[in-house]
Amino acid sequence: VSLAGADLAELDTPALLVDLDVLEANLAEMAAVAARAAVALRPHTKTHKSPEIARMQVAAGAAGITCAKLGEAEVMAGAGLDDLLVAFPLVGEAKLRRLGGLLERARVRVSLDSVEVAEGLGRLGRSLGRDLEVLVEVDTGLHRLGRPPGPATAELAAEIARVPGVEVAGLLTHAGHAYRAGSPEALRRVAEREVLDLVETAELCRRAGLELREVSVGSTPTARIGASVAGVTELRPGTYALNDATMVRLGVATEDRVAATVLATVVARPTAERFVVDAGSKSLSSDNMATGPGWVPVAGRPDLVLDFLSEEHGVGHRSGPGELRIGDRLRLVPSHACACVNLWDLAYGVRGGRVERELPVAARGKVA
Ligand code: PLP
Repeated sequence: VSLAGADLAELDTPALLVDLDVLEANLAEMAAVAARAAVALRPHTKTHKSPEIARMQVAAGAAGITCAKLGEAEVMAGAGLDDLLVAFPLVGEAKLRRLGGLLERARVRVSLDSVEVAEGLGRLGRSLGRDLEVLVEVDTGLHRLGRPPGPATAELAAEIARVPGVEVAGLLTHAGHAYRAGSPEALRRVAEREVLDLVETAELCRRAGLELREVSVGSTPTARIGASVAGVTELRPGTYALNDATMVRLGVATEDRVAATVLATVVARPTAERFVVDAGSKSLSSDNMATGPGWVPVAGRPDLVLDFLSEEHGVGHRSGPGELRIGDRLRLVPSHACACVNLWDLAYGVRGGRVERELPVAARGKVA
């Protein structure tokens, strides 16, 4: 039974809410950042895992979408999204078969950081009679995938370009280390390094004869800073659509720009200070819990501090005189929206205190 039209008070808890006014404002703002800088926006859909929100992003001006895994891309292609970047090295015959299927339905590019992965893709490309477009991933400081910027990457890109059946379309980087920046100045330095390293490395590749079209950068913390640097062609922020407590802590979003919250009910008041809600790590994820009390804020209630989560219990304490009773409802702000949303089958799209529509989290759990 659809709960579209229901009052929020009618929702059972815990429930994942997406404030549609905030979501729309977030999508419009990042689309404007990209448009002003004349670069393409290719939002990462791992944040919301929702084809409906992906379609909203395209309607707001995105050129296409980014997916972390083939499974996510398959769900998105099934919903009609037809321009996809799979930002993950695809290894093994099963993956290549699935990529072949996906390529029948959509334009798909893949990022990679090795000749081995390129050779698999090249076999697929040759069997399809066309070159597969790849982006070579560069390590601009996260130390996850990629070789360092400069000659190390230029050499790799040249080797990959020699693999028959693939075409090196450009370079890609993800500055996930921006999340660890301790100040706005440190964040700016990370973002500037991210784009300058990539643009300079792309130039090096071009001087060596590669015709790179794409220079793809941009996490939510860095996209606004890097967008207007000459040479950048594409931004791939993901978290910006929903935002979360981490973005607020980094100074990248304000609390009124957090679209996703978990509606929870107070189910116990064991002591005068302590309270327990019906949302634990299986509703919010335990990401960043080690940061300590308050890592999951309670919207509009700074006097309530969450201390820890077990699987189904969220346990906190009152740090002020505010009342709190069993049955009261609280809106918890996830520390990491992407990990939280992936736990839910359905989000409720809410506006003005009512459920406007249900948003299936159709690509949740698609980790393969
Ligand atoms: N691109 C890649 C390859 C990523 O892994 C991510 C996030 O993990 C993003 C883009 C989006 O970054 P953010 O979630 O900070 O917006």
